[in-house]
Amino acid sequence: LAEVLEHEQDLPSRTPDGHDMPLMVNTGLAVDAVASLKSRIGGVGLYRTEVPFMITERFPGEQEQTRLYREQLEGFAPLPVVMRTLDIGGDKDLPYFPIEEANPFLGWRGIRVTLDHPEVLMVQLRAMLRASQGLDNLQVLLPMITNVDEVDDALRLLERAIRELGEDGIEVARPKVGVMLEVPATLYQLGALAERVDFFSVGSNDLTQYLLAVDRNNPRVADLYDACHPAVLSAMARLARETRALGVPTSVCGELAGDPAGALLLMGMGFNALSMNAPSLPKVRAAIRRVSLASAEALVDETLTQSSPVGVRRHLEARMNEWQLAHL
Ligand code: PEP
Ligand code: MG
Repeated sequence: LAEVLEHEQDLPSRTPDGHDMPLMVNTGLAVDAVASLKSRIGGVGLYRTEVPFMITERFPGEQEQTRLYREQLEGFAPLPVVMRTLDIGGDKDLPYFPIEEANPFLGWRGIRVTLDHPEVLMVQLRAMLRASQGLDNLQVLLPMITNVDEVDDALRLLERAIRELGEDGIEVARPKVGVMLEVPATLYQLGALAERVDFFSVGSNDLTQYLLAVDRNNPRVADLYDACHPAVLSAMARLARETRALGVPTSVCGELAGDPAGALLLMGMGFNALSMNAPSLPKVRAAIRRVSLASAEALVDETLTQSSPVGVRRHLEARMNEWQLAHL
């Protein structure tokens, strides 16, 4: 099976009824085998910048960050690389920047931290922009957005970074900017967000945690944490519908996108791209190449009639068996 999947890796991610489903990768550290990966993907859907920050002894400076980002941007050029600004807090702590809170997932996380420390965000934005010089494939993604003021503040800092670099004689293009849809409040503000940014990326990991009020890392409630909860799936379906109506390209970069059944559901809902860890690409591609868009759309409709997570799982399993995809 591994051989069959490997063989298919160079074939397009296209359904039997001719629908192209762009697949992207999630990265953090330097990527091995970028060359072979490049021909198989649509780009980097999520570069988690906090990952390299977690293995240094202090905040990397502008030079060091520029070097790190250049490696990603150059490695994958001309494909787009979506770089997310620092998403620390919650479960992602930097040894040299400890955050101690009773409820870290509801606390100082992601954009909340970097807007309170604009000097950190400015260094990061300047480094991303400098790294993108002459490549034009940088896209900037803002994590943990809760309201539009945060977006406006971050956009102001981005404009400032572009202006400052210009004053230093470094002319850079303005990158596309997107926000993560992972705090449930954003689901109700899509119109206002769409006026401000170029794309959306759905963080199904956090969206699941926040919709279900279940800490994604607490083993005691791990059974309750389920992206296939009918409420989560119906929120996702609604997101796909509304972002399409707004004309804003929207991808999914949480774990659900790297699960074959999850990927089929997301395709059926109408998302524009799926971003996943590289090891998930073969199985997701295999599923897409075997199931028509029409069947995936029917799968969504059937699944949304289920009222319990167990019902959803059972239904997905039955269909995956029928399609001979259960072994993926
Ligand atoms: C998510 O929340 O789904 C996501 C992709 O981001 P992270 O897992 O880094 O929080
Ligand atoms: Mg997240």
